[in-house]
Amino acid sequence: MTSSSSAKQYTGGCLCRANRYEITPSRRLEIDVCHCIDCQKSSGSAFAANIRVSSSEFRLTKGGTPDVLGAFHSRNTLSGNEVVRHFCTKCGSPIYGNATGFDEVVVITSGTMDAPSEEWVPKAEHFCKDKRTWMADVKGEGIPRHHASAM
Ligand SMILES: [Zn+2]
Ligand SMILES: [Zn+2]
Repeated sequence: MTSSSSAKQYTGGCLCRANRYEITPSRRLEIDVCHCIDCQKSSGSAFAANIRVSSSEFRLTKGGTPDVLGAFHSRNTLSGNEVVRHFCTKCGSPIYGNATGFDEVVVITSGTMDAPSEEWVPKAEHFCKDKRTWMADVKGEGIPRHHASAM
């Protein structure tokens, strides 16, 4: 659905603010919850809550250089796709990732957004096979809950 209002712009960045970004999404943002082991490891938490945008809608406005932005190439993925996880080398925040062969998509860690909105609701859960047993399903009817699927 297109809107006559101008595109919304959102900002975010890592904890120490060495890396900053802005996104100008063409549609309402939605969250993908991923329970995979890689997301648990790289986030240091029980799951990841990611937002996908087009790479053309994502722009680093500060940092982004090798002295402050690291890149870990994760090749041992179920999909076989190499996932590149970008993180701040100063404060350790995971910031965004992308998969080789899917250059048009950027996956942003929603916790790095400056003002997460309650409107951004999960639209899918991935890798439920790795989900912690104490965790309830995310709220929402008809949300696809994938046993294992690539982000
Ligand atoms: Zn930082
Ligand atoms: Zn994952």
